[in-house]
Amino acid sequence: MIGVLDIGATNVRAGLVSEDGELVASRGRLVPPSADARKFLDFVCALLGSLVATEDEELTAIGAGSCGVIRDGSILYSPNTLWKSLALAEALKVRFQVPAVVINDADAFALGVYHFEFRDQFSGLCALTLGSGLGGSLISERGLVRSMSDISPEIGHIKVREGGARCGCGGSGCLEAYVSKRALMDSYRRYGGSADMLSPYDVYQAFRRGDDAAEKAFTTLGRYLGTGMSTIYNLFAPPVFVLGGGISRAARAFLPAARQALSKGIMKGIGPRPRIVISKMRSRASLLGAAHQARSSFGTMLK
Ligand SMILES: [Zn+2]
Repeated sequence: MIGVLDIGATNVRAGLVSEDGELVASRGRLVPPSADARKFLDFVCALLGSLVATEDEELTAIGAGSCGVIRDGSILYSPNTLWKSLALAEALKVRFQVPAVVINDADAFALGVYHFEFRDQFSGLCALTLGSGLGGSLISERGLVRSMSDISPEIGHIKVREGGARCGCGGSGCLEAYVSKRALMDSYRRYGGSADMLSPYDVYQAFRRGDDAAEKAFTTLGRYLGTGMSTIYNLFAPPVFVLGGGISRAARAFLPAARQALSKGIMKGIGPRPRIVISKMRSRASLLGAAHQARSSFGTMLK
């Protein structure tokens, strides 16, 4: 059984994936905020360990998708957590005594939707996860697209506004500073939205009731998202953008503005107009993507 982890800034989900790619069990927990990477690691290991014990299974390998800048299994810098760096693959290997691979969480999501949801439909894709932060990953027929410094491209930190809103990465004007849970809530309040609305889900319900501030907040988010997607398209021309993460469930509220900004920002002559689709896999995508990476990394050892 492959142990899998989806590590976000606020939630961690652990799962077990069989050799034939079935997610047989999973459980998620909110992460207690802590600046201590060791405590965070203990939390993650306890979650996976308890799942293994409950299901009475034996692990053959671990695949994890995690937030942050990742190289060679280590989280070098995590912008949205209090702790900042962690040698995660090595730590998992020591704790569970099996080989472990750690990739960027957006890469895990992209592998999941590419191999388990859209493989027959598209030759490649750009996956974007809209949640506490904005994760992004590109995948082509040759596999994950890497930056020239061999990390996952930091799509959430494309600059969309000079001198703009502060971002968790320490910079300002990043796409993530306009397309994330916090950005949506901030702009909802700025447009005079009710203080009783505490989550993007609440704001979406308000949108459905015809709330003006909610409509404006989602339109603003959509415009920035579309602008960001047009930059990605002008560089890499993915045939499709696959959206996931909690905020993608409110697509009806922001997609019209996103499509419009995307069309406006695309340079003529690059290629056919990209499609935008919403993943239906939810948390399964990242877990199956992480398992896929573990199988590709340790395939022969698992047999
Ligand atoms: Zn940033």
